[in-house]
Amino acid sequence: MTRPQPTAQLRAAGLRKRYGDHEVVAGIDLELRAGECFGLLGPNGAGKTTTLRLCLGLIEPDGGRIEVLGLPVPERAREARRRIGVVPQADNIDPDFTVEENLLVYGRYFGLTDADIRGRIPALLDFAGLSARAGARIQALSGGMKRRLTLARALINDPDLLFLDEPTTGLDPQARHLIWERLRSLLNQGKTIFLTTHFMDEAERLAHRLAIMDRGSLIAQGAPRELIARHIEPQVVEVYGDGAERWAREVGQALATRCEQAGGTVFCYAHDAGPLVQKLEQQEALRYLHRHANLEDVFLKLTGRELRD
Ligand code: ADP
Repeated sequence: MTRPQPTAQLRAAGLRKRYGDHEVVAGIDLELRAGECFGLLGPNGAGKTTTLRLCLGLIEPDGGRIEVLGLPVPERAREARRRIGVVPQADNIDPDFTVEENLLVYGRYFGLTDADIRGRIPALLDFAGLSARAGARIQALSGGMKRRLTLARALINDPDLLFLDEPTTGLDPQARHLIWERLRSLLNQGKTIFLTTHFMDEAERLAHRLAIMDRGSLIAQGAPRELIARHIEPQVVEVYGDGAERWAREVGQALATRCEQAGGTVFCYAHDAGPLVQKLEQQEALRYLHRHANLEDVFLKLTGRELRD
């Protein structure tokens, strides 16, 4: 008999964690529904990795409740982790083993027999596009291949829930697209994904819902399109070139809802960018790009444009 799936694969309520005086996770509520990809976005140091580690039961919270796959965490985290796959931020594949041996050794942590793991390996290598590399040494793999191996490794126990911490950081565009395609196929198989990323395009492509985290708190939550509609004007005109700032002050500001400057670019946000574009057509010295607002605009509006360490 199959067990009924709980509708929430992960629930956290009032979750807190502090290091010294620094409240790194400052009382957050999260819920991941079965079969969805939930994205946690935030600038560096926002508390994303700490949140993942709390949900995995790797560190103790200072307050709040966590339930993963119906089990209380950290109390029953070991049981919960048997049904979870983890892709950590940095690849931690064992360089002394081959591709295949890495999967074998990792599978043993879950108490799987060698025969069972060997039975699973061909499909996982195929999924990761590494069938021809089964016997390869890790040093011989590209960055994209290592990430795919880490993803394949995270699937060795056929998990219901996957935790991915910045899965495509450091990869080239081709490698990123391949990972995204693989993640979509996992979602199609009914797996639930908890993803942290600071790439807005990644979140916009993959996440059904997402939360933006800043300084330990969740400052916005919803589907990517909802967040864009709720927090930002629908159209953006980016203006570049000498005199962009002066033009924004003298002309742009009156025609836009608001203008922001970052580096040498002025971002003009508007409900109707027609009048802005009309004026810019007359400015030979300025270049511009007229586009729809995206998640990055929301993110920068809510978290600010200053650099974070
Ligand atoms: P993110 O993943 O969003 O970049 P982290 O969760 O890694 O953020 O870190 C949030 C903050 O918590 C950072 O300021 C980091 O320095 C601090 N921090 C994380 N882990 C520890 C720790 N073990 N001891 C002290 N400070 C920590």
